[in-house]
Amino acid sequence: MKMIAATNNAHKLKELKEILSELGVEIISLQEAGINIEIEENGDSFEANALIKAREIYRITGKPTIADDSGLEVEALRGKPGIYSARYAGAEGNEKDKRNREKLLEEMKDVPKEDRKARFCSAIAAVFHEGKEIIAKGYIYGSIGFEEKGNNGFGYDSLFIVEKSEHTLAEISEEEKNKISHRANALKEYKRLLEMS
Ligand code: IMP
Repeated sequence: MKMIAATNNAHKLKELKEILSELGVEIISLQEAGINIEIEENGDSFEANALIKAREIYRITGKPTIADDSGLEVEALRGKPGIYSARYAGAEGNEKDKRNREKLLEEMKDVPKEDRKARFCSAIAAVFHEGKEIIAKGYIYGSIGFEEKGNNGFGYDSLFIVEKSEHTLAEISEEEKNKISHRANALKEYKRLLEMS
């Protein structure tokens, strides 16, 4: 089955492609589908935003569409940056990911190690046809480091130390990340719901 992935994030696209290929799903990017739009994510949760993206691309193309909305929730910051993860340090400008990480480190500079718990959340929304939608959620748990470590991945990966491990998500391989990530866990749940539907 072919599905359009409603994301312009090349890293997310790659992760979705790899994880969904195990389900026999062939992912078509927005670029390949000839769509060049910016969708306003004005929902108040990851699920709402994922659904907004999937529904909008389905509305335009009439083709099965899958979308992910994800972000980082830090306990000591009462769940921030949450749904604002991508625009934490501002919506505009270059090197957004880098500025987001710098802002997070600054906000966390006085927080001791034991209070630095965090989790990534991913909500996956799929629209197959009018009236058939699936929404699934997944998490990965860990903590925020005191400095960046590792060069893989994207976003906050180099600051996120995986629970029961010494390593950040930027220090492990793509294959390993795709087995344990919030997106992988959301897609496992998605698969379970798909089989039940
Ligand atoms: P979205 O495009 O609104 O879903 O933005 C998600 C934002 O959350 C990204 O820009 C990243 O900053 C962050 N994020 C989501 N997933 C990951 C991940 O797997 N690693 C690192 N950062 C992530």
